[in-house]
Amino acid sequence: PTFESMKLKPDLLKGIYGYGFEAPSAIQSRAIMQIISGKDTIAQAQSGTGKTATFSIGMLEVIDTKAKDCQALILSPTRELAVQIQNVVKHLGDYMNIHTHACIGGTHMGEDIKKLQQGQQIVSGTPGRVVDMIKRRNLSTRGIKILILDEADELFTKGFKEQIYEIYKYLPPGVQVVVVSATFHPEVFQMTNKFTTDPVKILV
Ligand code: AMP
Repeated sequence: PTFESMKLKPDLLKGIYGYGFEAPSAIQSRAIMQIISGKDTIAQAQSGTGKTATFSIGMLEVIDTKAKDCQALILSPTRELAVQIQNVVKHLGDYMNIHTHACIGGTHMGEDIKKLQQGQQIVSGTPGRVVDMIKRRNLSTRGIKILILDEADELFTKGFKEQIYEIYKYLPPGVQVVVVSATFHPEVFQMTNKFTTDPVKILV
């Protein structure tokens, strides 16, 4: 398929081409429409295959740009990755007037709070700071419709497990969950069962 055949919002399509993409990669061809359909998705793909843009495009398509509250939350195991993802989202959403924020540890708490209070439709963060912001009521979870767990293998083995469970408890029932990882340890795979319902599994 082409990006056109995915029938994306024109402003999103513009952002994709503006970013320099011409045709979808294998994982993008297989997973973007699944994500847009609202199904829980587990995707195994190496980095370098275009997995960041896969969930970013899926997510941007389902976001309501008129609603100002947080609608999508992406969790990743490192600050660098969280910032990198926020950048990709920002660029792909360049023509959508989207508000995104990287909510990561090691940054000024007050700045973080200020940004979140301005209303961020998409938040990309590390579990520790995100759970902190939720508990302090600086990040409202009420409007979140999609949760993305990137590098799930690392997320679940690097001591973030409890924080992710905690964040998940705050999310609205029926939230769509997308789990992405280059590898899946058997026990991580089992854990994803707790977060997903009848997920589509995609292996690239
Ligand atoms: P990732 O697997 O998300 O780390 O992406 C690897 C690299 O591929 C990044 O530099 C992306 O900008 C690039 N990329 C992702 N999707 C496409 C695409 N459809 N066409 C060209 N480059 C892409």
